[in-house]
Amino acid sequence: MIVAIDGPAGAGKSTIASKVAAKTGFFFLNTGSFYRALTYALIRENISISDKDGVIKAAEKHKIEIINKRIHLDGSDVENFLRSDAVDAIVAQVSAITEVRYKINEQIQKSAQNNNIIAEGRDMTTVVFPNADVKIYLDASIEKRAKRRLDQGTSTKTLEEIKENIETRDNIDQNKEFGKLKISEDAIYLNSSDLTIDEVCDKVVTEINKKAN
Ligand code: C5P
Repeated sequence: MIVAIDGPAGAGKSTIASKVAAKTGFFFLNTGSFYRALTYALIRENISISDKDGVIKAAEKHKIEIINKRIHLDGSDVENFLRSDAVDAIVAQVSAITEVRYKINEQIQKSAQNNNIIAEGRDMTTVVFPNADVKIYLDASIEKRAKRRLDQGTSTKTLEEIKENIETRDNIDQNKEFGKLKISEDAIYLNSSDLTIDEVCDKVVTEINKKAN
């Protein structure tokens, strides 16, 4: 079974998807991490976001995969470097390049070799897994989303600055030429603003059980 979850930054997708994966034994695919790993490589190699050809070449060159539940870039575990302010600042622009998306989607699909998958991102329900058995669009207010990112403790920015970064990323994500963030017609819309993590997990698990039975 494939469970696909999309939604804007900070809506709680990875928290929910990893919890549901732990409960159900499904393989968890955090697809934002693939874009983040590529962005981390660009920063490390001093490739500017304005050098579109350089960014595309880097996307073609680097191997990004999940090994033991952690993201690896060319065989090295980079999971701990993905949520920095520097990566946050340009990851949406990197992911807006269509050629980059093609390449990353290939790597995501290669990583999705388990039969039971829960994948979260921006275009899981629409482009990557259009035939997913369960489709969820997870949303939350901008205030709640910014507060959640602040509480992750990986940013040195203020709440207001994080809010601005999220709004900028939302805007880029919703206006991409390919793979833009949108609510798929057949997705269940869940607003997590006033729900606990467990309440949202229960709703997702209920939808999985409905399909499984
Ligand atoms: O989910 P997360 O915030 O870690 O994703 C980082 C960035 O990667 C997002 O801002 C978005 O621009 C991009 N992304 C994407 N498509 C996905 C997952 C993430 O474009 N499927």
